[in-house]
Amino acid sequence: MRRNALLIVLAALSAPAGVVAQPPGPRIVVVQAGQLLDRPGRPARGASTIVIREGRVLEVRDGHIAAAAAGFPEAEVVDLRDRYVLPGLIDSHVHLASDTGGVASQLEEVQLEPPAKAYNALVNAHKTLAAGFTSVRNLGDRDGVTLALRDAVRAGKVVGPNIVDAGTSISTTAGHMDTALGFRDDLRDALDRHDNLCDGPDACRRAVRLQVARGVDLIKIATTGGVNSRIGAGLGRQMFEDEARAIVETARLYGKKVAVHAHGTDGVKLALLAGVDSIEHGTVLDEECIALFVKTGAWYVPTLSTVNGYLERIAADPNAYSPAVRAKVDWRIRVTGESLAQVVPRGVKVAFGTDAGVSKHGRNADEFELMVKYGMTPSQALVAATVSAAELLGLSEEAGTLEPGKRADLIAVTGDPLRDVTVLKRVSFVMKDGVVFRDVRGAGVPQ
Ligand SMILES: [Zn+2]
Repeated sequence: MRRNALLIVLAALSAPAGVVAQPPGPRIVVVQAGQLLDRPGRPARGASTIVIREGRVLEVRDGHIAAAAAGFPEAEVVDLRDRYVLPGLIDSHVHLASDTGGVASQLEEVQLEPPAKAYNALVNAHKTLAAGFTSVRNLGDRDGVTLALRDAVRAGKVVGPNIVDAGTSISTTAGHMDTALGFRDDLRDALDRHDNLCDGPDACRRAVRLQVARGVDLIKIATTGGVNSRIGAGLGRQMFEDEARAIVETARLYGKKVAVHAHGTDGVKLALLAGVDSIEHGTVLDEECIALFVKTGAWYVPTLSTVNGYLERIAADPNAYSPAVRAKVDWRIRVTGESLAQVVPRGVKVAFGTDAGVSKHGRNADEFELMVKYGMTPSQALVAATVSAAELLGLSEEAGTLEPGKRADLIAVTGDPLRDVTVLKRVSFVMKDGVVFRDVRGAGVPQ
């Protein structure tokens, strides 16, 4: 890394906004882009100039305009004339607080104190932002770790991606969010509060209200078992209809969306019939599921990257997973991508999401390659990670495109991502809210 690039990153990591002396008046930045994809889904513009005022896009103009010619002689100029510029990317499914899996995550459960998890979440947030992901939706952790990080980022105390957070995910007892699975009986009560587990509609209403009380942005539930659930209870439905409906109705009372972890078709249908907003994973889908997606307008979030996480852990340690979990992991590796290939031609709404935490933080862009492998065009995959994810996260007014009034969240790459999505794995420049977070152009980063 070049020395001044390193200084920029260090400053971004440590200095709250406003610490660096600024000239009087609004802070203006002029970004000159070689190519600009300001609105994914529409054709890219050629050479363009983006004028940014106080962290927001003021205007986008054709050609390379000098600061003085743009009317702002005092403006900082960022020269990206040899780069392809596009909006900051959005990952709709991450778990910033952790990136362990299998037996290692079981150990983490009994060894790590919440403050240690909080530092892990901050480090993972920086990795995510450095990879070009300027907004994320965090779908489940414990102890309000990422909720606190969300607030710290919003308050400008620390630098990180803009976070939409679901607090602790909700499931039934022995469901995917029962963290005591696989532990001795006498550890069950010692380990956790279990107030995210609910059996019966009344308990499920209360579980939602507890998350709302903690300040979450949305509710995350599991209607089926999980690959990483530490028991061999399968990947089918593990929640009753009245429980799912109680959860969705309660979330709606408070204006919250509901994201659903579901692998088997019965759990997907249960969730879609209850009126949820997104299905995460959706590893097996049938005609009825697809028809329900189309009818309800719910989003599909494929999380194909999980497979990379599984394969890497198994390569490093063949015993990384207990036998009950390993059987599910092997199945997921076999079938992942089939659902995406099914839904793309049917017009189901797809939002980009990796499940980073299962896969490695900072490698979020690996998902693009898999989305294209399983039936999306590069343009569709980019729309999923910008315009569509912004809509799912409720950020359409803020992010997803580079238009006047939106946050100046942008990234730069070498090469055309609409021809080769793998260039997105090598993001050399990241700006969030008009402030440079990462600039490693010409610094030995493989292009
Ligand atoms: Zn997840």
